[in-house]
Amino acid sequence: MVGGGPAGAAAAITLARGGACVTLVEREAGAREKVCGEFLGPDAARLLEGLGLSLPGLGAAPIEGAILASGPREACWSLPFRAWSLPRAVLDEALLGLAQGAGARVLRGRAVAGAAREGAAWSVRLSDGAALQAGALVLATGKHELRGHARPVPGGAIGLKLPLRLEEPLKDTVVLLPSAGGYAGLQPRAGGGANLCAALRAAGAEARDPAALLARVAAGSARAAALLRGAEPLLPRPMAVARVPYGFRHRDAGAAEPGLYRIGDQFAVVPSLAGDGVAMALEGGAAAARAILAGQQAGAFHAALNRRFDRPMRWSGLVARGMEAAPGALALAAGAMPGLARLAAARMRLPGAGGFTPA
Ligand SMILES: Cc1cc2nc3c(=O)[nH]c(=O)nc-3n(C[C@H](O)[C@H](O)[C@H](O)COP(=O)(O)OP(=O)(O)OC[C@H]3O[C@@H](n4cnc5c(N)ncnc54)[C@H](O)[C@@H]3O)c2cc1C
Repeated sequence: MVGGGPAGAAAAITLARGGACVTLVEREAGAREKVCGEFLGPDAARLLEGLGLSLPGLGAAPIEGAILASGPREACWSLPFRAWSLPRAVLDEALLGLAQGAGARVLRGRAVAGAAREGAAWSVRLSDGAALQAGALVLATGKHELRGHARPVPGGAIGLKLPLRLEEPLKDTVVLLPSAGGYAGLQPRAGGGANLCAALRAAGAEARDPAALLARVAAGSARAAALLRGAEPLLPRPMAVARVPYGFRHRDAGAAEPGLYRIGDQFAVVPSLAGDGVAMALEGGAAAARAILAGQQAGAFHAALNRRFDRPMRWSGLVARGMEAAPGALALAAGAMPGLARLAAARMRLPGAGGFTPA
């Protein structure tokens, strides 16, 4: 298992519980925040529960409503489901703890430097020079490419995250704030404060300077300006991730590499603040583990996962494009027809509530 985010951890937990011998390699030695809106919907909650984690038990803050604001227009609606906000450092550590508890060997603070097929097995080289052999290789490195196995993505958006203390605390609500060349989301943080997260086509000073990021988001709407007035950034500069390839989906060109299973952002990158990247990572991870335990080939697994993710990818793409291209019209439509906003929110989730077995 290469990478210990939600995808890699869910795969390791499920494989270890299924009796497989698993090694997970995570390059970060300890808990670390990630660029993420921290919005967890009902799919993430259900999948985490299936693994043995309760979001309220981890201290997550509930989210019940949504606001979309653009210029002078805004729409408010209640979500058709319960959602949550939880810092990634808390979530990812809880999942890795579960993987270890299930019997997976978790190696922290070392990266996988390369992997090559040798006969019927994968030979994996670690950054400290150690080598591992594996029958199956699960690629769960998120936004980071593994040399020799990179996603074919030319470029993409920039993702920014800035925890804030707001003058007026935000309660139970996620606020979607389109601005020039992208959009941001603002929601309460478990433990106090708020999380501002933005997906922008391009960024200059916004990627280095909290004041520039706040000014760009505040310029997008009257609501953003009001919410961010007097906001105190809790980091000296925003966290940033570049070249996020929204809309990317892995498709095997011809035959899949035997024994190489791609999951999480290495498989599909759903538009942020619309779809649920963490839920898709959890579901793909657990499904890859079941595929490996059942002896399903990587190509068949990838094809089944693509079918499964088709609807949330298409709807999230549609909504994200609307927020960029015509945010005022979207706010007008959502304000006039909150039922439509609730329908779109539901269509961006994973279809059905049952467990997914790739077939
Ligand atoms: C701006 C933005 C906002 C977002 N907001 C949300 C949101 O609100 N809700 C939501 O559900 N999703 C959100 N997402 C998406 C979500 O963050 C991802 O979909 C999710 O983290 C994918 O999980 P993963 O396990 O594939 O990757 P990651 O969480 O990125 O984990 C990959 C892990 O692999 C490790 N790694 C990388 N390379 C190596 C290596 N060579 N060797 C060993 N370890 C390695 C990394 O250290 C990392 O821990 C957002 C994304 C962006 C960019």
